[in-house]
Amino acid sequence: MSSIFEETKFIMKKYNIKANKNLGQNFLIDENVINSIIDGSDVNENDLIIEIGPGLGTLTKRLLERAGKVICIELDKNMINILNDRFSLYENFKILNQDILKTNLKSLIQQEKEVGKIKYVKIVANLPYYITTPIIMKLLEEQLELESITVMIQKEVADRLIAIPGEKNTGAITYTVYYYAESKKILEVPNTAFIPEPEVTSEVIRLDIRKVPPIDVSNRDFMFKIIKNAFMQRRKTIVNALTNTKIFKDKNQGINILKDVNLKENVRAEELSIEEFAKLTDKIINVIN
Ligand code: SAM
Repeated sequence: MSSIFEETKFIMKKYNIKANKNLGQNFLIDENVINSIIDGSDVNENDLIIEIGPGLGTLTKRLLERAGKVICIELDKNMINILNDRFSLYENFKILNQDILKTNLKSLIQQEKEVGKIKYVKIVANLPYYITTPIIMKLLEEQLELESITVMIQKEVADRLIAIPGEKNTGAITYTVYYYAESKKILEVPNTAFIPEPEVTSEVIRLDIRKVPPIDVSNRDFMFKIIKNAFMQRRKTIVNALTNTKIFKDKNQGINILKDVNLKENVRAEELSIEEFAKLTDKIINVIN
């Protein structure tokens, strides 16, 4: 058994902790996986690392040794006590007892940039799986000054996030991730790397935030609304999905607009590249204005 496994068991016993399933608590106990996350996120002394859900602090400890500063955001009060006991002597450690989905990350980052000698801000986390999508959407859509996001999430979701738009296994979120970031897989992780073991296989991915978007579109928010509506009824053709959701006035208008941007009448959402969605958006704006 690894020393991290022993350490985790010891801390759980000492503080009488039982993993809280409702909070997605699966603690990492695999040294190699931890090394891959630390190396994969490329953390160094110029970085402010924001760790979401530090739990018992297994990753936190390694981050504190390498990063300029580590801010942990953890919802569970029981973990806060443990983390304070373990790390309050580290000068670069800060912890907030908050829900990540309610945290004002923009102002947090701004404050840290003003006071510290931080160059880059990176997110590193073994995420609580029950809120993976809202967390990723928040991190991307709030357009924070982030360099990268390195996260462990369930494999099935990871594969969808890092798919190429227009190819297999995509969803509306694939387009959001592609628009804001260049993504890559770092490592697949078996459920034996955690206690308790989750029911699913996991994967570590890294999203490098783009400095410039990969496409031009006149109204980004409207494009994402169109993509969401098109994927909401993914078995339907785009004409039907966008007519049902009232983006097109009627089917005829839809068919004509698709023709104008060189798309087949029976095309489905997952067949479109992000460039094609951008063109379609610009055309729709043109027609309805
Ligand atoms: N980082 C630890 C590790 O790798 O062993 C724990 C990861 S565990 C998968 C997810 C952590 O996220 C838990 O500590 C849980 O309490 C915390 N968490 C759950 N919901 C949260 C929320 N809304 N905001 C912040 N943290 C949350």
